[in-house]
Amino acid sequence: MPDDLLRVALPAPLPQLFDYLPPPGVTAAACEPGSRVRVPFGRGQRIGVVMQRVACSEVPHSRLKAAIALLDEQPLLREADLAFQRWAAAYYHHPLGEVVSAALPLRLRKQDQPLPLREPVYCLQVPEEQALRAVARAPRQRELVVVLLRAGADGMARTHLRDRGFDVGLPLKRLQEKGLVGVRESQSVSGAFVPRSAGHALNAEQTAAVDAVRAALDGYAAFLLEGVTGSGKTEVYLQLAETVLQQGRSVMLLVPEISLTPQLQERFAQRFGDMVSVLHSGLGEGERELAWQRARLGLNRVVLGTRSLVFNPVANLGLIVVDEEHDTSFKQQEGFRYSARDLAVVRARRAGCPVLLGSATPSLESLRNVQQGRYRHLPLTQRAGGARPPVIDLLDVRDQPLLAGLSAPLLKELARTLDAGEQAMVFINRRGYAPVLACYSCGWVSDCPRCDARQTLHRASKLLWCHHCGSQRRVPAVCPECGEADLHPLGQGTEQVEDFLAGRFPEVPLIRVDRDATARKGSLDRLLARVHDSAGALLVGTQMLAKGHHFPRVTLVGVVDADGGLFSADFRATERMAQLLMQVAGRSGRGERPGKVLIQTRYPEHPLLQTLVREGYAAFAEAALRERAEAHYPPFAHQALLRAEANRPGPPDEFLHQVADWLRQLPDMQVELWGPVPAPMARRVGRHRAHLLLQAEQRPQLHPVLSRLQHHLAQCKGARKVRWSLDVDPVDTY
Ligand SMILES: [Zn+2]
Ligand SMILES: [Zn+2]
Repeated sequence: MPDDLLRVALPAPLPQLFDYLPPPGVTAAACEPGSRVRVPFGRGQRIGVVMQRVACSEVPHSRLKAAIALLDEQPLLREADLAFQRWAAAYYHHPLGEVVSAALPLRLRKQDQPLPLREPVYCLQVPEEQALRAVARAPRQRELVVVLLRAGADGMARTHLRDRGFDVGLPLKRLQEKGLVGVRESQSVSGAFVPRSAGHALNAEQTAAVDAVRAALDGYAAFLLEGVTGSGKTEVYLQLAETVLQQGRSVMLLVPEISLTPQLQERFAQRFGDMVSVLHSGLGEGERELAWQRARLGLNRVVLGTRSLVFNPVANLGLIVVDEEHDTSFKQQEGFRYSARDLAVVRARRAGCPVLLGSATPSLESLRNVQQGRYRHLPLTQRAGGARPPVIDLLDVRDQPLLAGLSAPLLKELARTLDAGEQAMVFINRRGYAPVLACYSCGWVSDCPRCDARQTLHRASKLLWCHHCGSQRRVPAVCPECGEADLHPLGQGTEQVEDFLAGRFPEVPLIRVDRDATARKGSLDRLLARVHDSAGALLVGTQMLAKGHHFPRVTLVGVVDADGGLFSADFRATERMAQLLMQVAGRSGRGERPGKVLIQTRYPEHPLLQTLVREGYAAFAEAALRERAEAHYPPFAHQALLRAEANRPGPPDEFLHQVADWLRQLPDMQVELWGPVPAPMARRVGRHRAHLLLQAEQRPQLHPVLSRLQHHLAQCKGARKVRWSLDVDPVDTY
């Protein structure tokens, strides 16, 4: 029997695939796996992907429907891409149809026709002086004129202008209307590689790292590049990328958050020019699709992006880099809950290319893989330019009066640093003015009506604002409970520290960096430019300060509070705290001056904090790994979390108890069950939440149980009364 049926993956929360006859007038042979088809589904239509052609179906032939249309003559996804998606769906026990769909850019999930790959290219068409004169009073048009001047007769493609942060909307249109800029269509691009600029000289450790990976480019190998902040990891990435490009292959570079890595992007753009494409959230649907297509066809061979990039069918992959591999934003926290870092390793193995995980503070999982010989360790211990590592000290604030959360010794050090014309940074990982507003008369606090959490006081915008569900209300003038005008902020956030420091050091430029201060597009860059331009300056901010940016003139870092991570119910909290503290500390003293880091704490004797401060991250990680081993926590065990939520507290609990009972009666059950218990935040966005944790020493014990569970849940009646999700390798239990 010929394979004349199509087995199609459809975006639906169902584990199975769906069989169809080929569309009218089209042979099954023409519908290659990896091509999209439009099919009837339920009462409507959906776009799906042909996974394979089969000879027979479980559905009787008379009841099979025909697909409506074949949408792609050439498959969009290769067999290897489909196999990778199958692997990911099986590993995370997530419906394959949703996984395959997530691998396509949004536009191709909705629209039949792929966009043509040609795109507009802009070129200056009047002499330099005339152009500059005409835009003298229009700064954004001027920016465009300047960059197009540099591009010369080649001009610049729209996506490249956009990737580099230029406004391709109104300003570009005005330039065309004034006749200053002309537009033509790009010819097909060759994808040929011409390096734009030479690399920097490498030190011995960087050379060793580059050589080790270069020697392994012919097959799969995993490397952990552990480089202290400022040790030049980016230059290692760049030189390896250059080698891979010269071989005619492509490089995938995964980063936690595009907006936080402008300097990394800029360096790749400088070195590789138009070969680089950046997939970021600022792209429109069409631009995203074009970038996806160009990477798939090998027209852009250096592709930068966040976690979903790991599914991009990048042509001829030669190297995958995961920068800041410890960052938890590589784990998708809703829907298809995959870890892009872990999948990057799988993808590299399947593609037969190396994967390089980079971090100043590697995850305990990756360090464990090094201990077990699965990853090779490449250390970078020297800071560029011979800069000395910062000196880190704990400030015991148990008996200290605090002003806006700041102790007298920290304030004294800040004054000394600023007097010397140097820059200082105050780190507090809470935005807003204060985490709680409270009434001293009756004890009312600013509870969120929908979550087991408090609404944060934002004084500038006069709002009480829940950071978990987004609910907001105006700050009341008097207590909503007792009517007394006795409301007081409790605790500190960035706004309050900023206010206080502005009063204390009125003559020093003060810059706040957090999500509120940088909400407007491009304003982070503007804020950072101000820091780089001034001599003495004071920075106040959240973890945005700790990620990606370099502040060469900062010589003092004050950490307002390190204690949040020490006694959390989450066993990963100390690891996160240590990573954050080290990332923040790494911002100081990168020039010729050594930096100083002062960490305020009420628990200066805490052993892990002591180890971190006295002996550094590596010693901390070793101690933390020993604790994990003793407690049988990951990476010494493997976990999956079944979450359930509903509008009432009863159903999630009942459902999870039923599931636990069902699991316990399975034969040869070697999986431990913890719970069900209410989630740490038992109510969120008005929904009651509970979970059941499954844990096993070995993956092969856990995964067959998860497969059976997945099938059980698809049929189980109790599952319909709740919203449930299965999270394999959870990084968070909140
Ligand atoms: Zn009151
Ligand atoms: Zn809330």
